[in-house]
Amino acid sequence: MHYDFFAPPQIHFGWDRFQEAGILAASLGSRALIISGSRSLETNGVLDELKSLLSRAGISSEHIRTISHEPEVTDVDQVTNILQHHTQGTGDFLIGIGGGSGIDLAKACAAMITNRESETVLDYLEGVGQGLQLKAKPLPLMAIPTTAGTGSEATKNAVISSYAPAFKKSLRSPEMIPDIILCDPKLACSVPPEITARTGMDAITQLLESYISCRAQPIPQALSLQGLKLAIPALPQAVADGNSRTGRESMAHAALLSGIALANSGLGMAHGVAPALGTHCRIPHGLACAVMLPSTLKANRSVCEMQYADIARHLDPGLSLSDAGAADSLIEQIEALNASIGIPATLSELGVTSEQIPALVADSRGNSMRGNPREISDDELTGILQDLL
Ligand code: NAD
Repeated sequence: MHYDFFAPPQIHFGWDRFQEAGILAASLGSRALIISGSRSLETNGVLDELKSLLSRAGISSEHIRTISHEPEVTDVDQVTNILQHHTQGTGDFLIGIGGGSGIDLAKACAAMITNRESETVLDYLEGVGQGLQLKAKPLPLMAIPTTAGTGSEATKNAVISSYAPAFKKSLRSPEMIPDIILCDPKLACSVPPEITARTGMDAITQLLESYISCRAQPIPQALSLQGLKLAIPALPQAVADGNSRTGRESMAHAALLSGIALANSGLGMAHGVAPALGTHCRIPHGLACAVMLPSTLKANRSVCEMQYADIARHLDPGLSLSDAGAADSLIEQIEALNASIGIPATLSELGVTSEQIPALVADSRGNSMRGNPREISDDELTGILQDLL
């Protein structure tokens, strides 16, 4: 065995532990700049409560921006610019509270505010711009996830989109892992069922893809097994009853584990295609992953039968099937899960047309696709996407 393992330095997890936000944040500084990822957090009082918890711990705070879409290059550049006018130096830190979009915006801005070789994040993104590297340590950051999906609170990248030209690329550095994760599953109770379903399937896709990735690692694989065992029964529960404590706790924990797993092991075809579906067809990230997951499992079945069988037996220790039967049962279980929570089985239901397929194939070749356990040629991917219409 030979591996490296990156983990977030501090994880504080638990129902209602949002109440500890001020006490925990005090170790990061004396002035919090807040980036939020949902208008709901403004209307349901969570942001006001955060400010008051910080104030009680002697921390002043300023709400800088709420973003309700997946972050774009212009968002990062504008918010970094605003932050530059608000930062006073020592004692300043950032809080990103929201889904993957809000946390990624906070992560990107925390890095961009201390790395000023270029004024635009574009020049630091993988595969586009000037290819600049982040050299200076980002501003300290606390991440408070409010969807249970991306695991962005535990990863070393932020995903940034552009629609003209169309790309979705990562800003990445080990220094970008948030300093403190405060994960209170109760915060996700206000997430509507449709968003619960698709963000939850993102976590399940990450747990499965990192497990079978060609860069798979033993510690993340153990985390993935625990995450899958919790998430597969919990997701329909959380979709059916947003206040289900067991459902929300299991999904928040599974999403966090999926972030740790992907940050160490990489992903695969579903996450390779999802950014292209996001930029060319405006399909939300989790939904794109969910629709692509069954085809991804099928495309990799020839080289992953044993891993699928191991996962299926972990999920159901009483399973008395051959390896081939157990592997098939895992794929069937994922298809049934998608159907039970209202995820469409085809891309045409999401408005994708065959004319878009060449661009989707061309733009699916990012870091995630390189983790796929077998090489998927352009011709094969074209066929897979055609079959999904
Ligand atoms: P999101 O952050 O875009 O949120 C989805 C919706 O849920 C938004 O409308 C938001 O306003 C709403 N919402 C969030 N919290 C809520 C709450 N508590 N109550 C009610 N509504 C709430 O969705 P997401 O799937 O969490 O994040 C997607 C983004 O994360 C994409 O850009 C994706 O590429 C990125 N991502 C990043 C990583 C990473 O490691 N950095 C990993 C996977 C995905």
